[in-house]
Formats: sequence, structure tokens, C-alpha cells
Amino acid sequence: MASYNSFHVAQQQVLEAARLLHLDDATIELLSWPQREFSFSLHIRMDDGKPGIFHASRIQYNFARGPAKGGIRFHPDETIDTIRALASWMTWKTAVVDLPLGGGKGGIVCDPKSMSERELEALSRSYVRAIAPMIGVDKDVPAPDVYTNPQTMAWMMDEYETIVYSHHPGVMTDKPMQIGGTEGRRDATARGGVIAVREACRLHGFDPTRSFAIQGFGNAGQRAALLHANILGGRLVAVSDSQGAIFNPRGMDPEMLVKHKLKTGSVLGFPDAGEIPHGELLELEVEVLYPAALENAITAGNAPKIRARVICELANGPTTPEADLILHGKGIHVIPDILASAGGVTVSYFEMVQDRYSYFWDEALVHERLDAKITSAYHAVQEAMKEKKTHPRLAAMIVGVARVAEACKLRGWV
Ligand code: GLU
Repeated sequence: MASYNSFHVAQQQVLEAARLLHLDDATIELLSWPQREFSFSLHIRMDDGKPGIFHASRIQYNFARGPAKGGIRFHPDETIDTIRALASWMTWKTAVVDLPLGGGKGGIVCDPKSMSERELEALSRSYVRAIAPMIGVDKDVPAPDVYTNPQTMAWMMDEYETIVYSHHPGVMTDKPMQIGGTEGRRDATARGGVIAVREACRLHGFDPTRSFAIQGFGNAGQRAALLHANILGGRLVAVSDSQGAIFNPRGMDPEMLVKHKLKTGSVLGFPDAGEIPHGELLELEVEVLYPAALENAITAGNAPKIRARVICELANGPTTPEADLILHGKGIHVIPDILASAGGVTVSYFEMVQDRYSYFWDEALVHERLDAKITSAYHAVQEAMKEKKTHPRLAAMIVGVARVAEACKLRGWV
């Protein structure tokens, strides 16, 4: 990760939105900091018999609009400030799509790629033992994030239910379908992004059938490759992951590429493409670019060289504030993270609703309701952009921050 402090970036974004909304000082102070933070260390027995000690946190950034909501990340570079930033962004994300939820995030500093399945299970369960009193369907509902998945959620939910002696499937979302998960959650983040791109094309005349590129080929990146090609009909010309980047101007078959990644663990070595330097992917001339990896990928250093017409941010925080201004100046249409990646948490919310009344929707209904939420959020952000004459991220922040500020005021907090 670059030397940016993501939490300082997040605080700056809140401040800019708050100023344009003319919020008072107390509200700005409240929204600039997490409402609750828990930091703790975990100890598990490693496979070699030695103790393993891991640092972890869960942050409930704001819960004026409902229970805190957001993923849990397993990553070696996690710090309290990356989790604070991610929890802040979840707060504005749930508000932009108008869900009755707050924002939160959690993390464990670990290297999941070097850990066994048994160690990951032990770590997941010990995390829940540490935070069980602080989470719950009406308090705080975690989900997967980077290097966590439905299996992680299954272990965590099971540990929670063991502790509280009752059934609470809605305490975690993006669970496997057999134990209270919903249809349509696995590809929801990517689907939301693709729906937002579709709206951008309709409104501004971009052509989704031309080329697109994806930076980061985890769950969101893989699903975006498949969905963009299937729904919008575009040509996937470049993909990268943590090990490198590949390019084929004639296009690659997303399905074959996903199979290759699952089989070999990387996009490198895909027979139908050549390797390019990692950073070059972001600078290719494509119609749509999907940053789908980690924070701070697009900075003042590479933003001037970006040639995409549309940037759909499936990652959280991929663009620094200086880069935002550069992209805006170049006329690139950015669909900001808190809107572009909101499909995941939207379907998480649908999962919570279904778990509550224990009656499940079919996939078509999930897709239809997700589409309605993202489409209306996209247009609300476009309206704010016009009204406040600002760039898309600030417009999205204005929509989200205004809703949270209003909830805080109604509750008498400020
Ligand atoms: N980790 C995802 C995100 O950053 C999903 C969060 C959720 O479903 O709670 O949006």
C-alpha cells in the first residue's frame, strides 16, 4: 500500500461534503470519527503446535441510521486507520443506497495465503469470541471483505450462535445458501457496478460494447468480467492481480480466464494474452476501467496518464483526493466506490431481511430489487453533481453524509 493514510483521506472527504452541506461544527466532529472502536489481540494454536498471536479490530463508525454494517478483512497490511477509513466509507455507502443501516468494518492483521484452513477457522472463531457482545442482528452485522468469504461467515455465525444459544443467521451476511444466505449475493458487488455503468452509458452516451479492463481479480473483479461481458457485451482486454497483468487487445474469454485463475491462483500464464507491466493496466485506452483491488491505486502520479472514459470503482478507496480532481479535469466519468461497490451491501441487507422473516426470495427478485436501488442511487448522485457543481465522489459523499447527518440530528445527538 502507498504511503497514504486512508483515514486522513476519508476524513478530508467528509469535511469537503460537510462544508458544501453547511453542517455545523458538532456534526462535522461527530461524522469525522468512529462512534465505537474495539481493538484486541487473538491467540490460536498454529498447525505446528506453536501459539499464534494476531491483532484485530472491529469499528462501528456510525449507527444513526441502523446497525453498523460492513466486512471483515484478513490482510497483512491492515492498520487501525485503514479499518477506520473502510468503516467510514461503509457509512456513506449504506446511506447512498438508502439502506436502514450504519457503517462498520473489521480486520485481522494476518497473511491468510500462508495459513491452513484449520488455522483460518480457529482465527475466525476466536475473532467472534472477542466481539460477540458487540455484534448482533440489531447491533452490528459483519460480511466478507478482502480474503474472507462465505466459509468464513459460516464459521463466524456458528461461533456466535454457540455463544448466544440461539439461532441468529442474520448476524453475518454473504453466508452459504444452505445456512441462511441469499440468492444473488456472490456477484452482487460486481452486478451493482455493472448496473451503474449501464446507467452511465444510457445517460452520457458511453459505449459499453467496447473494451474494458479490470485491476484486481478477486471475487468482485472476476464477477465484473463475466457480468460486463454478458450484460453489456463489452470486450475484456486486460486484467491484473497481485502477481501481474495481462493484455490482449482482441479480447479474452472471461469464463476461461476465471477458470485459469481458480486453477493456477493467478491471471499470469493465461494462454490467450501477453504480460504487461503491472501499472500499465490502469493507463490503457479503454471505455471502462474497473479498479477492483485495494486502496490508493489511482494517485496524482498515474491519474494524468489514465485514458479510460469511465472508471467504475469496485474497490474501496482506490482513488486519492488529488487524483479525483485530475480525473475530473480530464473529463473522465468516475462512478465512485461508495456507489459503484454498493451492490454487495445492498444484497447483504436483503439477506438480513430474509433471515429475519425466514422466507427466501428467488434470484430474479434479488436482481430486480438490486437494480432499482443502484439505478436510483446513481441518478441521485448525478442530480447532486449538477446541483452542487462538483465531481462525482463529492456528490456521492454529499448524498450519503446529508442522510447520516439528518439521522444524527433527529436523534438529538447534535
Ligand atoms: N465488504 C463489502 C463492502 O465493502 C460488503 C459489506 C457488507 O455486505 O456488509 O462493501
